[in-house]
Amino acid sequence: MEEVIIGLEVHVQLNLLKSKLFCQCPTDYHNSEPNTHVCPICLGLPGAMPVINRKAVEAGIAVAMALNAEIQEKTLFYRKNYFYPDLPRGFQISQYDFPLAYGGYVTIETDSGEKKVTLKRIHMEEDPGRLTYPGTIDTARYSLIDYNRSGMPLLEIVTEPVISSPKEARSFLNKLRTILEYLGVFDGSLEGAMRVDANISLKGGARAEVKNISSYKGVEKALSFEITRQKNLLKRGIMVEMETRHFDEARGVTISLRTKEEEQDYRYFPEPDLPPMEPRSLIPDVKDTIPELPDAKRRRFMEEYGISDYFAKVLTSEIRMADYFEKVAKVIDPGLAATWIADILKGELNYRDMEFSEVFEAEKLIQVLKLLAVKKITEKGAVKVIRVMLDEGGDPLKIVRRLDLMVMDLSEVERLCDEVIEENSQAVSDYISGRKEALNYLVGQVMKKSRGKADPGETNRILIRKLKEREKDSS
Ligand code: ZN
Ligand code: MN
Repeated sequence: MEEVIIGLEVHVQLNLLKSKLFCQCPTDYHNSEPNTHVCPICLGLPGAMPVINRKAVEAGIAVAMALNAEIQEKTLFYRKNYFYPDLPRGFQISQYDFPLAYGGYVTIETDSGEKKVTLKRIHMEEDPGRLTYPGTIDTARYSLIDYNRSGMPLLEIVTEPVISSPKEARSFLNKLRTILEYLGVFDGSLEGAMRVDANISLKGGARAEVKNISSYKGVEKALSFEITRQKNLLKRGIMVEMETRHFDEARGVTISLRTKEEEQDYRYFPEPDLPPMEPRSLIPDVKDTIPELPDAKRRRFMEEYGISDYFAKVLTSEIRMADYFEKVAKVIDPGLAATWIADILKGELNYRDMEFSEVFEAEKLIQVLKLLAVKKITEKGAVKVIRVMLDEGGDPLKIVRRLDLMVMDLSEVERLCDEVIEENSQAVSDYISGRKEALNYLVGQVMKKSRGKADPGETNRILIRKLKEREKDSS
């Protein structure tokens, strides 16, 4: 099998910062009308001067530190010139020589153990606006431009070409998303939060760049398609061309856009309106704001709560889930909490294609698990309550009552057991004479009388005790 070489350029929108990179426009445009979050600076009007957002630089430094990268002594902004309607000035303010940071790595899990995906560099730049096409890109007679996104703070995180499969690419992006969300500067569920350009080649062949893949699932699909395409070319003895391709998400294919532009095509030159910065001097301020990161939290969860590595890994894969677990584990046995959150609740969310941010409050799960712990409801009943809360919302106790899920009182179960023993003398003597399978029949009778509301385990236990007493009496 040919060796696959993948490098990623990930554009990360620091979408939880309050304002854009070079102006004071708010960043919360995601549910707003087009062109409502704009000003002369991010519209690129003549004479407007950019001013760097200090919070964005600090967030960039925090990300670079969390990714183990080396923050540089001096960083500089450049103008990257290209002509496209999403870029009102005709150039993007970006970094080139003198990026924010070099190096770093992200640890991922692969089939053959842990792997460090090493990074080349991390730099800051502004997001361009967004073009939309009525209908499809090839039939639209005009395009619409929304500049709400123009000037959003971006980090471009570039990996070394060390990723060797589409699956590895996906776990790298998942891990990156987790870390960024831990830092509180990024919400990966927002539209356009992470956009990926992928460089991909087979050993010995030229590389193709697939531009602007905008979903996590898209990256894996685009890469798989591209590997197959390049393999087929090589098989037929055709050289793979160095080119830029577009990923058509709907059809799952990549299409040739143009031969790849060279760096000199962008005519980079230093941005005269922004002074150089010394990011290293900000490290002491930023350092204290970096929270516990996923790998450290995972180790702590195992130690502090005594849960398995698997559960610790699932729970810390999202900061929201990790926080949720800690709230529940304060009150409920951590092992029980871990199972119900990482396994059952997460499974129900996946089934519904829901994000963890859409889940009901931890307080409600605590109520359900409390009822379960004292055997007021069964496991089945608890799952039912969770499903209803996800689908329609509501209060757990009210749902338990409405669905009649409260398990029967033990004294009531005792009474039913006595009744069943009285009414089924044949099965009772069968049991006493050694045909132990008669017990199942008796348990079934009690369950029937309780209309399924007796706890089967308790019923079993009570019946055995009562039958043993009979056995003693009759011998
Ligand atoms: Zn603006
Ligand atoms: Mn870029």
